[in-house]
Amino acid sequence: MSGVTNWARNITFAADRLHRPATVDELRKAVATSGHIRVLGSGHSFNRIADVDAERGGALVSLGALPSRIDVDTAERTVRVGGGVRYAELAAALHGHGLALPNMASLPHISVAGSVATGTHGSGNGNRSLAEAVRAVEILTGDGELVTLARGDAGFEGAVVSLGALGVVLSLTLDVEPSFDVAQHVFRELPFQGLDFAAVSSAAYSVSLFTDWRGPRFDQVWVKRRMPDALDFPWAEAAVEAQHPVPGMSAVHCTEQFGVPGPWHERLPHFRAEFTPSSGDELQSEYLLPREHTVAALAALDAVRDRIAPVVQVCEVRTVAADTQWLSPAYGRDTVAFHFTWVADTERVLPVVSLVEDRLREFGPRPHWGKVFTADPARVAERYPHAADFVALAERLDPEGKFSNAFVRGLLPRGA
Ligand SMILES: Cc1cc2nc3c(=O)[nH]c(=O)nc-3n(C[C@H](O)[C@H](O)[C@H](O)COP(=O)(O)OP(=O)(O)OC[C@H]3O[C@@H](n4cnc5c(N)ncnc54)[C@H](O)[C@@H]3O)c2cc1C
Repeated sequence: MSGVTNWARNITFAADRLHRPATVDELRKAVATSGHIRVLGSGHSFNRIADVDAERGGALVSLGALPSRIDVDTAERTVRVGGGVRYAELAAALHGHGLALPNMASLPHISVAGSVATGTHGSGNGNRSLAEAVRAVEILTGDGELVTLARGDAGFEGAVVSLGALGVVLSLTLDVEPSFDVAQHVFRELPFQGLDFAAVSSAAYSVSLFTDWRGPRFDQVWVKRRMPDALDFPWAEAAVEAQHPVPGMSAVHCTEQFGVPGPWHERLPHFRAEFTPSSGDELQSEYLLPREHTVAALAALDAVRDRIAPVVQVCEVRTVAADTQWLSPAYGRDTVAFHFTWVADTERVLPVVSLVEDRLREFGPRPHWGKVFTADPARVAERYPHAADFVALAERLDPEGKFSNAFVRGLLPRGA
């Protein structure tokens, strides 16, 4: 196999082959006949988290050709989704049943299993990571066993944000709620000086602040109001034209703005489901810190704004509520996330990534597992109180290390 890349094309996978089973039996066979295997979701991560180890030789498996399974239980308010299903597909199905997910990421095209495996999140003071909606996970392990872990079972908190290291997630059961409408408003030009971040971030259900670091201000604030909530946003002027978060880009692919109410799944992501970018000219990094450090962290980054601005397309600052998943970057702490969409130039971007990490170090940042970071892996693991419990769970479910890879072992060494 050659030339298979991630969505951003900054990673060419080292696998010998890519399996695309059409049935669960074919999937079992692929797992049984591989000494080393990793699941590839929709490939939207920016580092080698999904890859195999080149020196071991191994296979990738995509679940994209399995029948797309979405079983809605309206009475129980749950949905069971197959391991290859993407959020856009799930959201449309739920909406058809009058149901909703509490939150979504900025892009709806990412797979559910791949997203929760890296602790993916949306925005909102009261909104937890997408993994927190999972109530049960069904895993095909390296020896062909099917293991189901449900909320309340020992080890469950380690099994959802799994970094793909436990086995193949065949299905996930998620909590859902009655469908709701959201109205999205965009405001322009919010200065850093005098920022009352607690007030701004609590102004609505979901709030995202964007800066390109070309000045000490947020260029845009995207405010998603859950209907019928009222909105009072006295800190900035409403935009008069539709906006894309990256200054100068057409807003045609962005979700509806100007406060027009619409279904949750057509407002909570920043980008429309009908627009499916097969690849992207960007790199991303993100650091999640305790929320009380927001203003100090903003000042620490503002001091190196002249280094960030030339290589950043846009930076998004948003909040995530504390959750209970051992490896979630929002585990146990109400969080602020500093996200960077960089230009697609690894050589120029990496030194600035390191600089951002230096500036944020004192605030105990946890990098997003699916994005570019250069932090010392041992320091990253230290920031997770249950790192050792996760390693024990991985040793229990995958004793041979069939699903482990250098990325995961580097961060969470076995036998340590
Ligand atoms: C344009 C864009 C926008 C984004 N927006 C956000 C955002 O708003 N918020 C945010 O937090 N992140 C965001 N991300 C990051 C993204 O959510 C994560 O990288 C996520 O992991 C991508 O899911 P994926 O299916 O593409 O996973 P992949 O990159 O394919 O895989 C990620 C991990 O999941 C594992 N995996 C995937 N499927 C399975 C399975 N069935 N069983 C076991 N393991 C599995 C893989 O082995 C790997 O370890 C964004 C990324 C892009 C490109």
